[in-house]
Amino acid sequence: MLDGSKISPTEIAALERRFPLAFEGVDLNFCRNPQCATYGVFPDPYKRPTDAPPAPPDALHGFVSGKKHEEFFKCPTCNKTSRIKNNRAIVEEYKRLKHLQEFDPTVPSCRTEGCFAHGMAPKTSPEFYRRFGNTAKGDPHFQCRLCSKTFSIGKPARRHLRSDKNRIIFQMLCTDVSLAKIRFR
Ligand SMILES: [Zn+2]
Ligand SMILES: [Zn+2]
Repeated sequence: MLDGSKISPTEIAALERRFPLAFEGVDLNFCRNPQCATYGVFPDPYKRPTDAPPAPPDALHGFVSGKKHEEFFKCPTCNKTSRIKNNRAIVEEYKRLKHLQEFDPTVPSCRTEGCFAHGMAPKTSPEFYRRFGNTAKGDPHFQCRLCSKTFSIGKPARRHLRSDKNRIIFQMLCTDVSLAKIRFR
């Protein structure tokens, strides 16, 4: 049991927060004035009504105010205000933008529609794949770690049986020769 001078965990649990919880280790709720001596120092996250247990003596307090969804933190060191950030929304937006940047629908990647690794090449996003040997023709084969689907990487024409015919077929398609006639070549 804790002695009377310490704050017990149950008292802490009863305190209401004035800042959102960190999300996946991300917490941006501190003074964001880079010139401030307490820039990046996390303020006391709890509301402290008069009957509440006091904050540790070295805690940075300041105050939080503003309308719902427009709350800001006023830093006691520099008096500048920083908008309270929704840590979860920031992490999600960061992930969305990162995915858009890495996503390329033209590269060979996991073929499962809707899989997070779909459109992410093994070369640029190796964390999503494991090597899975080679195909019978020697092309590298990969397995997606997220959905377990496999695929191979190689020349786009690697499955064509008669790639020597590609040029003539392409020329005929471009000159409106029907597929029925192309078949007889
Ligand atoms: Zn400050
Ligand atoms: Zn996948």
